[in-house]
Amino acid sequence: MRPFVAGRCDGDTVPIHRPVSRALQAGMAVGAIDPVVGCICGAVPFKGPFAIGHECVAQVLRVGAAVEQIRVGQTVIVPWAVSCGSCPSCRRGLTSKCATTPSRTLAAYGFGTASGPWGGMIADEVRVPFADHILVPVPLGVPALRVAAASDNLADAWRSVVPPLGERPGASVLIIGGGAKSIGLYAAGLAVAHGASVVDYLDDNFARRQIAESFGARALLMSASRRRRNRPATSVGYEVVVEASSRAAGIRRAIHSLAPGGVCTAVGYYLAVGTRVPLMRMYATDGTLRVGVSHARAVLPDMLAFVERTGYAAEHVSTLTADWDDAPRAYAARTTKVVLQRDPL
Ligand SMILES: [Zn+2]
Ligand SMILES: [Zn+2]
Repeated sequence: MRPFVAGRCDGDTVPIHRPVSRALQAGMAVGAIDPVVGCICGAVPFKGPFAIGHECVAQVLRVGAAVEQIRVGQTVIVPWAVSCGSCPSCRRGLTSKCATTPSRTLAAYGFGTASGPWGGMIADEVRVPFADHILVPVPLGVPALRVAAASDNLADAWRSVVPPLGERPGASVLIIGGGAKSIGLYAAGLAVAHGASVVDYLDDNFARRQIAESFGARALLMSASRRRRNRPATSVGYEVVVEASSRAAGIRRAIHSLAPGGVCTAVGYYLAVGTRVPLMRMYATDGTLRVGVSHARAVLPDMLAFVERTGYAAEHVSTLTADWDDAPRAYAARTTKVVLQRDPL
């Protein structure tokens, strides 16, 4: 594959902007950071050098002898996680927990060798196994920049609002944004586009509130409602809540904001051992909390068909679109969503 559009995952800003590796090692050593972090990232998390990046739109350069459906020259989405498509996990749609790579907590692009030998997507070429299963062609007429984040962050937003709204047509939606910066915004837009009666988006960042409003969401300052942190943001609560602040306090706030029978999907990382969760509150409201990786491959066909059908303008979340050759500088930019591009062949 030759990636020609690549998105910066919200999670990639953490190792780029902060010296987190040493902090994580120290945290694991004293038992403050959950040891599963070491299973995913290795004993020395983000040990360089490694190729970063796990969101891309790519062109097929060559195919192996066993590939039957994917053709040279096709434009495809490469999901962030490697999956075989035929094991029990994959058949259940848990494509990011593929059992064919059982020695890994995650088999994925762009996290370094602890997550397998796959490399990263900010690269000249990327090798893709199980190509007939993994690769999903981009529908004709869908601009590549629109689906720059389909490999991960857009798919993560999709799972957090589209299936819950399918089960609760016209539900009210709350998004606590600002941590998983682009996921919260994609979720706001997708919730509006899927018929939510109310979409409230909480974030202290002005530019992101503007993007949320451009999608038709109601944007609110996080700090304005901080004193009501442990109360629902409305008296009746929300049937669908997305926790995208990536903070333990955000999880608690999200759960306290649930309406009876509501579901909260937490899309962030909660690294500490023993993150407190108000279970009795969940009992009282019959609330559901969903935590875990997104299974991008499983949702890609429906999601791309939706984008093709509706023209959903996911590119409005991209706050910096940079030339591929400027990747080192652009990838480090302190902005919501970076997308790199170069001409397709
Ligand atoms: Zn990611
Ligand atoms: Zn599998």
